Amino acid sequence: MDPVVHLLKGLVAIDSVNPALVPGAAGESAVARALAEQMRSLGLTVHIQEVSDGRPNVVGVLDGRAPGRCLMFCGHIDTVGVAGMSQPFDPVERDGRVYGRGSQDMKSGVAAMVDAGRVLQQSGGLEQGQLIVACVVDEEHASIGADALVTRWRADGAVVTEPTDLAIAIAHKGFEWVEIETEGVAAHGSRPADGRDAIRLMGRVLTELDALDRSLQSRGTHPLLGTASLHASLIQGGRELSSYPDRCHLQMERRTIPGEAPGSAAREVAEILGRLSAADPAFKGSSRQMFARSPYQIATEHPFVAAVQEARSSRQTVADGTPALIGMSFWTDASVLGDAGIPSVLFGPSGAGLHGVEEWVDVASVITCRDVLVELARSWCSGR
Ligand SMILES: [Zn+2]
Repeated sequence: MDPVVHLLKGLVAIDSVNPALVPGAAGESAVARALAEQMRSLGLTVHIQEVSDGRPNVVGVLDGRAPGRCLMFCGHIDTVGVAGMSQPFDPVERDGRVYGRGSQDMKSGVAAMVDAGRVLQQSGGLEQGQLIVACVVDEEHASIGADALVTRWRADGAVVTEPTDLAIAIAHKGFEWVEIETEGVAAHGSRPADGRDAIRLMGRVLTELDALDRSLQSRGTHPLLGTASLHASLIQGGRELSSYPDRCHLQMERRTIPGEAPGSAAREVAEILGRLSAADPAFKGSSRQMFARSPYQIATEHPFVAAVQEARSSRQTVADGTPALIGMSFWTDASVLGDAGIPSVLFGPSGAGLHGVEEWVDVASVITCRDVLVELARSWCSGR
């Protein structure tokens, strides 16, 4: 068995469900220990960065014999929950696939990047530069791991090994969460003169959001990502049938594309509320931004993108018609690295069922991914 597959199975067998998603879940400490041990045994210098209680990033460093460029591999070691899965931590291998929670998202990517360190070490080490293998916590929730990572570590290029079907992803969307509240006046349902219906006031906001979404989706399309969009995610209001509701509360999500200024959603909502109060002085509403993460994009012609493309084509028969450069709809840690000034791409194995009840990864693609990473480390770190 290829060592990368052995490592992958070992990682899948360790429960590392994110405790911020599933209260009481195992968290990343056991898988972090295993990875630290693995990288130490390969001769990498291992750094443990305690991000929060019992949730450590593990960073392995391989120094070249001469100065050169620094390359980072970055992968998250948490997974989503396992509800509905029969054997989430039993890494069954069948028909060229490994099944189990995290097999695709993204213990296969983590195994590929750690095992790339092994191949480099066993073939005489790194000639030049430095390789940083960063295993981070909490990507499936708030990415506190990646946030902590960039406070201590920098690189001249980074590959986030999320599953991309062996394509190179150079862009993804961002998101913003905004909370809106409308304020009415509670009153007995029989006394319309005394009451003001906060839910119907929110209805006006929803109508505006509907128009905004249509406008977002009719604006310029990003060539790899499509358009921005929004949806009303959660709504709450009212106390009982016979009363005018005094409050209605909405939490919405806006997906952003590169080129949109940070805070776009919060500003758009504030404008809507301003317009509604100008039209009716009795309208009362307020909003605040809850959380936001930027979209990510790196230029097609960036030298790091070219280096990854070259490494990929040296190790892969690109005959299957998949485009080499793609965009991904979902947000990833590449945005955190990019915001910290590290040119980043996503490149990882193929599979299916991420976050689903049957998750698997294609074994051959894990091996190819590892081989491409090795090739990239040799060329990029030496400045070739
Ligand atoms: Zn992931």
